[in-house]
Amino acid sequence: MAIEIPRFLKRPAIRMVDIARKTDSLKFLPELLESQWWNLSMLEELQAKRMAELGRYVRQNVPYWAAAFVKAGFDDDEVLTPENIARLPLLNKDMIRVAGDSLKSREFEKWQPRHKNTSGSTGVPLDYYIDRPAHSWQWAHMWRGWAQTGYVPGDLYAAISGGSLVPEKAALKQTIYLALSSALHFPTYHMNDEIMERYSERLAKSPIDFVYGYPSSMEIFSEYITASPRKKIPMKAVFTTSEGLSPKARAAIELAFECPVYDTYGCNDGGIFSFECEHHNGLHMGMETDFVEIVDEKGQRVPDGEPGEVIATNLVIRAMPLLRFRTGDIASLTREPCECGRGLIRVQELSGRERDVIHTPDGRKIHGAFFTHFEALHHADWIARFQIHQPDANTFILRVILRREPSEADKQAVIKDLRTAMGDMEYRIEVVEKMMLTRTGKFRIIVSDIG
Ligand SMILES: [Zn+2]
Repeated sequence: MAIEIPRFLKRPAIRMVDIARKTDSLKFLPELLESQWWNLSMLEELQAKRMAELGRYVRQNVPYWAAAFVKAGFDDDEVLTPENIARLPLLNKDMIRVAGDSLKSREFEKWQPRHKNTSGSTGVPLDYYIDRPAHSWQWAHMWRGWAQTGYVPGDLYAAISGGSLVPEKAALKQTIYLALSSALHFPTYHMNDEIMERYSERLAKSPIDFVYGYPSSMEIFSEYITASPRKKIPMKAVFTTSEGLSPKARAAIELAFECPVYDTYGCNDGGIFSFECEHHNGLHMGMETDFVEIVDEKGQRVPDGEPGEVIATNLVIRAMPLLRFRTGDIASLTREPCECGRGLIRVQELSGRERDVIHTPDGRKIHGAFFTHFEALHHADWIARFQIHQPDANTFILRVILRREPSEADKQAVIKDLRTAMGDMEYRIEVVEKMMLTRTGKFRIIVSDIG
């Protein structure tokens, strides 16, 4: 387990984290804290400048992209822009595997690359590399998102999560790293009452003001705290990530920790990061180093406000640049100014992985966000938590953790509403003790065996 760092040591400690993980995040943070207040056109100018640099770099140094630009009809001296980047094909995981080393820069080692592997929560694992600039910016983006709540790098926080936020097996090196970065890790592979009691005791005793975790784990944990004699563990802020935050989960967390929840959305392989501001109305994109497009099923850009797949281009990575990477996440974009005054555009309606959809008999695809807002499920007082499993085209299984024993009429009422929304399928309600989690401990509201 992590060792707590005294507060007086926190600035030097965080500098040591930068040194230990070979990043320059502290150097980039002040820039980001300032540029978030620029107006949109200044931010777009910076984005365009970095995109032009990326385009020049990859054409000169990365064989895959040199060929792809030619194939896409780029002239030799044509500058890569937010508009003409749409001429490049979308990049998926299969293409990355096939491309192999041709996606690596000729100067690969110079950028201090480190090997990463995605969780494969969509069933497709991917090997990729993140380099020193991209890794540094990534942490600076996260710190900026957290900074609005009074968080200062080096402040102690608790990480309540499975594997992708903190290492699964805390080897010595990782334990030291976590201690230096002031994170107390509370793994959530198994959340039972005994573990939650231990966590809440430890949290209540620690001088911790911030919690970082998966919404699903945080929701269960929050409900446990609220139901226990302790009732609350006040924090300054809770940051959630990764899964899509339902209004119900947000309310449960805010009640237990007596503080606002700030959702964040990141995509490590795509190299993008976004964060909620105090208005909680969408997530501000890290435009300074990330470029995001939203496309329809044919790969065409959709107008602002319309949902589609998030396509990510990290503008500062050099070791193995992935341009127009298909994240598989669904969201919409808005360029409308936010009340907070930040110029950064926002992603809205994040609704989980594209693959996590229910296929209806009449050919519709229903995303997770539909169910997190579906009244029939949220108003059913007997349902504590639910998950949907579609094992085949004609079967819809509602997996339920009970708040109380339902009557047959209770169950039929929910099934009737589901049938009205979804169409004619076989509907089953299964009472379970636990939800199905991905290999890294993430919760997905929809588990589909189709497609
Ligand atoms: Zn805002």
